[in-house]
Amino acid sequence: MHELRKDILLGRWIEVLSESRAPSEYEISENKKLAEERCILCEGREGETPLEVASIRRPGTQPNTPGWWVRAIPNFKPMFQVEGELGRRGIGIYDRMNSIGANEIIIESPEHAIKPEDRGIEQMVRVITLYRDRMVDLIKDIRLRYVLIHKNSRLDFGETFTHPLSYLIATPVIPKKIKEELENAKQYYDYKERCIFCDIMREELRVGDRVILETKHFVSFCPYAASYPFESWIIPKRHSCDFHEITAGEIEDMGFIMVSVLKKVRKLFHAEPPLNYFLHTAPNRVPRRNQWHTLGDDFHWHLEIVPRLMRRSGFELGSGLFILPTSPEHSAKHLREVG
Ligand SMILES: [Zn+2]
Ligand SMILES: [Zn+2]
Ligand SMILES: [Zn+2]
Repeated sequence: MHELRKDILLGRWIEVLSESRAPSEYEISENKKLAEERCILCEGREGETPLEVASIRRPGTQPNTPGWWVRAIPNFKPMFQVEGELGRRGIGIYDRMNSIGANEIIIESPEHAIKPEDRGIEQMVRVITLYRDRMVDLIKDIRLRYVLIHKNSRLDFGETFTHPLSYLIATPVIPKKIKEELENAKQYYDYKERCIFCDIMREELRVGDRVILETKHFVSFCPYAASYPFESWIIPKRHSCDFHEITAGEIEDMGFIMVSVLKKVRKLFHAEPPLNYFLHTAPNRVPRRNQWHTLGDDFHWHLEIVPRLMRRSGFELGSGLFILPTSPEHSAKHLREVG
């Protein structure tokens, strides 16, 4: 029989199908030809991009010239603008405000065809360090409530670049999915006086059949009620709500675990599947609003990695009840055993 499982973090149900589909039964489209000649994100074409906001580069090289390993630039067509006032107001029963925020591209490799996981742990460490540096900088802006760093790789809808990169979007509101995690984590804490993420992590380590990899500072596992087949989380063992408070030792270890998991995903499907990842961290705490004052105790930052192997059905879109053709236990087993 198929099984309904409740996601205790988001409070929603998902269905796990009884006959788990193997990785080989998913169809992955051919990798698009890399438009390398026309790519202006490659090293050497710095003059054609907006001026960089930050970079990690070889000593002695100048900003906006070659010599960088990772580089953050404003997005070409930003959805949010840095300058201006929020201008919150009501129109009848509706609320509006200006789309103040930041929209950056984090270029993760100077070479078009070499992803950070292929360049090695050192490169991934630079990527994570730049994530942290950008976040530390942006949370100083009290107009901004949330900074979401995420990756859309090979998701063909309207993607402009095939260069290895992630996006940073900072918004003046807390996005719905984050709010749901925050609210449910808070409720759980109010009831049990324990962090829901620490509890989930302890339970996963106790049971073990959904764990992919455990390192000194991190655990990677497939969530019990995942939203997608082969979805996995990377979570720090040390309780901390803010990603930007990650230590140097943790960055090093996170570089290792990210490289391992991303390579495992690729090996498992003998190709590079379309993939998202999302870095979920605590929102910016605005001093005068204290509804999130327990956040330091009840929220725990984490990275969600989601290979996008299938489209959502009408039922899933209409109901929010997701169907998992491969169980989290099978997903974890495949990921654990590959490479
Ligand atoms: Zn490129
Ligand atoms: Zn925790
Ligand atoms: Zn999350």
